[in-house]
Amino acid sequence: MIKKKLHKFKSKILKTDYINKTTKHITISTPDDFDFYPGQFISIIITINGEELRRPYSIASSPRPNQLDLCIKILPNGKSTPTIAKLNEGDEIDVMGPMGTFIIKDQSLTKPITFISTGTGVAPFRSIITNLLEHNFEKPIILLTGYRYNDDILYEQAFKELTEKYPHFSYQRILSREGDRTGYVQILIDDNLNLESDYYICGLKDMVNSVKDHLAEKGIPKENIFFEKYD
Ligand SMILES: Cc1cc2nc3c(=O)[nH]c(=O)nc-3n(C[C@H](O)[C@H](O)[C@H](O)COP(=O)(O)OP(=O)(O)OC[C@H]3O[C@@H](n4cnc5c(N)ncnc54)[C@H](O)[C@@H]3O)c2cc1C
Repeated sequence: MIKKKLHKFKSKILKTDYINKTTKHITISTPDDFDFYPGQFISIIITINGEELRRPYSIASSPRPNQLDLCIKILPNGKSTPTIAKLNEGDEIDVMGPMGTFIIKDQSLTKPITFISTGTGVAPFRSIITNLLEHNFEKPIILLTGYRYNDDILYEQAFKELTEKYPHFSYQRILSREGDRTGYVQILIDDNLNLESDYYICGLKDMVNSVKDHLAEKGIPKENIFFEKYD
């Protein structure tokens, strides 16, 4: 992997909207020569009561000039997200990036790929999957997402539209706390198990660890499993 240039820059909030009760989709500006690999993250640096806080956020959009999207869960008791929630269009923030190695590995380019997320763990997959499809990746791509409630679901309409445009992309979602068939993403993994696939997992560490264990039990080799932990 050839490293992308690390930038530290003032970024403008171009757009900020709640896309469900607790999650904001935020578009920020980037410098002319800013570039990243889908799956990488940036850090937002904010100072609150004299304390400098850095929080990494996965880039949730495919590369495009001068802007990128973020998908940020606002935690009422979090140190930084309540302040991030109050940012308005036109405000400036300090940003550093791109960083991270959770990108599509060369070995995956000739195989089916299964992406597994819970909550805002879907953010890097919005970037990676859109990019793969736009670049004519031809092997099957499956996205398996889990949320607690209906109100937590992210980008569902957009993913459904992608399944219509690209028949080799499929999208499935499960809720753990409401609906007809409640449960965790492990159920979807079993429904779609493919020993030939590479697996990419993103979310909070408890989920990532239990999905990794589950995949290992099902016979997926360790070297075909990649993950990003948010905590
Ligand atoms: C590589 C990386 C990429 C990340 N990308 C994203 C992203 O795209 N979107 C995003 O919302 N967060 C993302 N995070 C988490 C983010 O950096 C912050 O930890 C989160 O926003 C909480 O910050 P805070 O200061 O408000 O909370 P803090 O006061 O720092 O409290 C942290 C607590 O929040 C929990 N937490 C952290 N992230 C989440 C989450 N997403 N959903 C629910 N609980 C959480 C942790 O378990 C921990 O208990 C990422 C983290 C890493 C390491």
